[in-house]
Amino acid sequence: MRILAAGQTDVGCVRKHNEDNFLVDAELNLFIVADGLGGHAAGEVASQIVVDKVGQFISQTVEQDRTWPLEYDVSLPYDGNRLKAALMLADQAILDDIRGNPERESMGSTVVAALLRDNHATLVHVGDSRAYLVNASEIRQITRDHSWVAEQVANGILTSEEARKHPFRNVITQALGNGGDLDVAVQDVEIAELDCLLLCSDGLSGMLQDQDIWQIVNNADSPQSAVQKLVKDARANGGEDNITAVLVQIRPDE
Ligand code: CA
Repeated sequence: MRILAAGQTDVGCVRKHNEDNFLVDAELNLFIVADGLGGHAAGEVASQIVVDKVGQFISQTVEQDRTWPLEYDVSLPYDGNRLKAALMLADQAILDDIRGNPERESMGSTVVAALLRDNHATLVHVGDSRAYLVNASEIRQITRDHSWVAEQVANGILTSEEARKHPFRNVITQALGNGGDLDVAVQDVEIAELDCLLLCSDGLSGMLQDQDIWQIVNNADSPQSAVQKLVKDARANGGEDNITAVLVQIRPDE
């Protein structure tokens, strides 16, 4: 099998800066979307630190012979530990940067990252950047947002539709660089041939319904054309925030 992937980011129609960053690394099979917070040119610094730091740590840990920089979680497989440690190091790197640049005090970043090995993906996220599994029959959100509204939905207080429109829909409960304890969500997902894994920032998921995303991904002839259309339609629906999509598809060998 082979992996096809593409990513696209766009400032949207309202914001002046694009604070999102992404990575598509076909050699490491590493895919990242990071959504910076903090404004005043700081958000894009935070999300760039995340993308750089995670990419660097994953490339340094291809071989399993490295002294582990943080506590090794024996309940997780190796790739889960790699991604979890990478996010903790990114968190520390943002805090280090803030110490040297106090004007960036409020910066932080959400992140969703996937590492593929054969037809298996290890996923981590912090905040409300999302991963979806999309195939011909369904679209399924596989990350649960670290957000106030997601907690209300999980507790049966709000419906998903109410959550989408709620005035507190952008309130996240975790971000890298916030200085609090991090609870990195790690999960493993099987990806069948022709399945697509979509990573995105909330500027995409907030502007498009799941059903629209499903249709666009299934009607596109390549990940490249799918991410272009996703971004285009998120803009057409208002583009209220920065928009980022990374789409990864497993194809059979030709
Ligand atoms: Ca955003």
